[in-house]
Amino acid sequence: MPRPRRAYVPLGERQELVSLSLRERVGVRAPFLAKRHVARPHPRPLSRRERGEIQAPLALALTFVVLGLAVAFHRASDEKSAPPLLDGNARWWKGNLHTHSLWSDGDDFPEMIAAWYRRHKYHFLSLTDHNVLSEGQRWIDAAPRAKAIAKYVDRFGPNWVERRSVLDKEKTKDQVRLKPLTEFRTVLEESGKFLLVPGEEITHKYGKFPVHINGINLRDVVLPVDGPSVTEVSRVHLRAVESQAKKTGWTNLAFINHPNYGWGFRVEDLLPLDELRYFEVFNGHPEVKNYGDKIRPSMERIWDIMLAVRLQRGQPPVFGVATDDAHNYHETSAKKANPGRGWIQVRSPHLTPESLLKAMKTGDFYGSSGVALEDLKADEQGLKLKIAGVEGVRYKTQFIVTRADTPLDAKPRMDDKGLSISGEYHEAIGTIAAEAEGLEPAYRFKGDELYVRARVISDCLHPNPYQKGDVEMAWTQPNVRKSAK
Ligand SMILES: [Zn+2]
Ligand SMILES: [Zn+2]
Repeated sequence: MPRPRRAYVPLGERQELVSLSLRERVGVRAPFLAKRHVARPHPRPLSRRERGEIQAPLALALTFVVLGLAVAFHRASDEKSAPPLLDGNARWWKGNLHTHSLWSDGDDFPEMIAAWYRRHKYHFLSLTDHNVLSEGQRWIDAAPRAKAIAKYVDRFGPNWVERRSVLDKEKTKDQVRLKPLTEFRTVLEESGKFLLVPGEEITHKYGKFPVHINGINLRDVVLPVDGPSVTEVSRVHLRAVESQAKKTGWTNLAFINHPNYGWGFRVEDLLPLDELRYFEVFNGHPEVKNYGDKIRPSMERIWDIMLAVRLQRGQPPVFGVATDDAHNYHETSAKKANPGRGWIQVRSPHLTPESLLKAMKTGDFYGSSGVALEDLKADEQGLKLKIAGVEGVRYKTQFIVTRADTPLDAKPRMDDKGLSISGEYHEAIGTIAAEAEGLEPAYRFKGDELYVRARVISDCLHPNPYQKGDVEMAWTQPNVRKSAK
């Protein structure tokens, strides 16, 4: 069923932080209901004696009835407003796993950012600042942040915002405290509605090549460590996240961020990473070069090469994540790293970090820059989608495959300065095997594919795109053909 076209809500729109929950509202109504029943006038005036004899038991009986009704009513409403724990049915949850705040180089307070995502109907968010978890004591200078602080006070109130004056070189300067996640999460989270997941962008480099990896649902910060190559620097951080899961018992995951940023990763740096399970196929930061250039492959091309090589080796696939990598919350422009460009939809029963991340580990999620799916079925037969269509928008779905007999050898390549870049691979890697219009595209395996994945392209321009002219899209995970596993 087509839904009405969504309106784009600009940055800075204000809305009530947390509305009174249904449970709280019911809690106010129940005693009122009881009072109204007890106070109902009697049909015939009774003598004082009669009242003494009759009214007491009657009032008592009425009180029991009313109390019973109130309890039943309260319980029924309570169950309706309770978090979805009882049915256990999986549903889609929308979230972003790459965001920056003033804890590193983002330009807004973490509460303001979380409020933006909550207001824009996200269900979960991970604030992933560079080499830091949002924890410990931190004060920042107020002077360069006057605009952000004014909005912060306006939104959360002067009692929430903590200020101090300190003596610095015999002058006083004003500071504002950055609140840690443990202090602000309860103000923004709501069971079954909005969840904050602790995260970090483990930020390092090898030589001049950036190596950025997001760790999601971390208990402890992972400090960057040197290594002898881009591959080894990545490996040590992927392993650090995994060993933390073993130590803490927390379900976590790690993904490689924006491989083309600073041309940090060649395909050949990614291929030896047996530990790799996820990478960013789309990142909304304007400098990350999602689409490659004339001589370097795009994120999707890198993905197909990784899938072809890994699956032929008998290794598990790599899943693609779409994120914002938002840094800028005050000015909306294609030149700024704004929120709202890329996200994932995860299908899991519960809105908890464990439930979401476990679903991601099985590949039950997709990346999006605007297109939503109602259903997604990946089985031995192939891949079936049901697009949540928006009225007036047309959709084209491309099914991308690599066949088992595709040659995997690559010709080495250099850039114009003689630096090694990603090799040239066979063009049959990641070919469009079929295209379908409409809301229910499907692909049936022919029998020689290693995998199939779908890319849904709408004709709706993104309201605040990564690159001018970008349309809203979605990317499913690869469905690996059974005998190819
Ligand atoms: Zn980064
Ligand atoms: Zn980042």
